Amino acid sequence: MKTEILKATEESIEKAAEIIKDGGVVGLPTETVYGLGANAFDSSAVEKIFEAKGRPKDNPMIVHVSSIDEVYPLVKKFPEEAKKLAEKYWPGPLTIIMPKSDKVPARTSGNLDTVAVRMPSHPVMRKVIEKSGCPIAAPSANLSGSPSPTNAKYVFDDMDGRIELILDGGECEVGLESTVITLATEKPRLLRPGGITPEQLEEVLGEIIIDKAVKSKLEENAKASSPGMKYKHYAPKIKVVIIKADKEKYAEYVSSHSKNAAALCFEDDAQNMSVPTVTYGRSDDSSSQAKRLFDALRELDETGAEIAFAHCPSDEGVGLAVYNRLLRSAGFEVIEL
Ligand code: AMP
Ligand code: MG
Repeated sequence: MKTEILKATEESIEKAAEIIKDGGVVGLPTETVYGLGANAFDSSAVEKIFEAKGRPKDNPMIVHVSSIDEVYPLVKKFPEEAKKLAEKYWPGPLTIIMPKSDKVPARTSGNLDTVAVRMPSHPVMRKVIEKSGCPIAAPSANLSGSPSPTNAKYVFDDMDGRIELILDGGECEVGLESTVITLATEKPRLLRPGGITPEQLEEVLGEIIIDKAVKSKLEENAKASSPGMKYKHYAPKIKVVIIKADKEKYAEYVSSHSKNAAALCFEDDAQNMSVPTVTYGRSDDSSSQAKRLFDALRELDETGAEIAFAHCPSDEGVGLAVYNRLLRSAGFEVIEL
């Protein structure tokens, strides 16, 4: 299959919608990361996403809608708390898990009795959903296990020959996948941190539970609250180790372990580095780190180094999402100095 990249225009959006209506898969820009989209109600279309990504079959998709009305056919119950969250944070980087209706195929929900729903803010994604006339199931547009793509070129690098079309809508604004919260449990539980912070969720919901797997490795044989927690994620080819230290100690550590090494550090660390360096935002600005992290992980592979020492970010606010992704890309290896 030949894979075409088209700048997002009225015409190419129309083409993407036609492919989706016909049961195909398209690479689409959203404000979080690029997604691989197909008709969420069509099992065989969704199956093609699993195949293109090499995604484990029990890992469910997020279903994207362009209006609140589109949520009702997807869910058994649209809880009041979900409506309040939607009112405050949609369209935006928040996914809400709710009990699913019978209309959502088991393929889309990974055989679970719940469904994950999000209303994205990216105008291109919104238009594609509207024109397709169906909710769009879309996981991140990377090969399973790799960092999520934040531009059309990175989607092409992973998906060349696997899908028909990629719409180029520029760089993603947030750079990390959406926050995932479940309201299908007794107490609201944060399963994946993202652009909407725990504090923002608590403004609406009161106290929430932060799943243990957000900041630590799932214990062997433990049941994952979200299937995605079980799998290897966001890993570049190079080995990544996180160094938790202040600026000086971090720089000293890197220079004393410089053989075949690269640094994944903040812009304000860069001048002190003695090895090939890739930066990811400023040390005091979690949003700038979020926006850069996945690109930086891909760029590390181009340095030719064998190991990357990553300067540990703050885990406050949006920083929790940055830390969560970096931790997984490092296989949970952290050295504290
Ligand atoms: P991705 O679409 O690649 O950003 O991944 C979506 C994430 O949401 C994965 O970690 C899934 O395991 C998780 N997810 C999707 N639907 C559900 C659900 N119904 N219950 C729990 N987790 C879900
Ligand atoms: Mg993903």
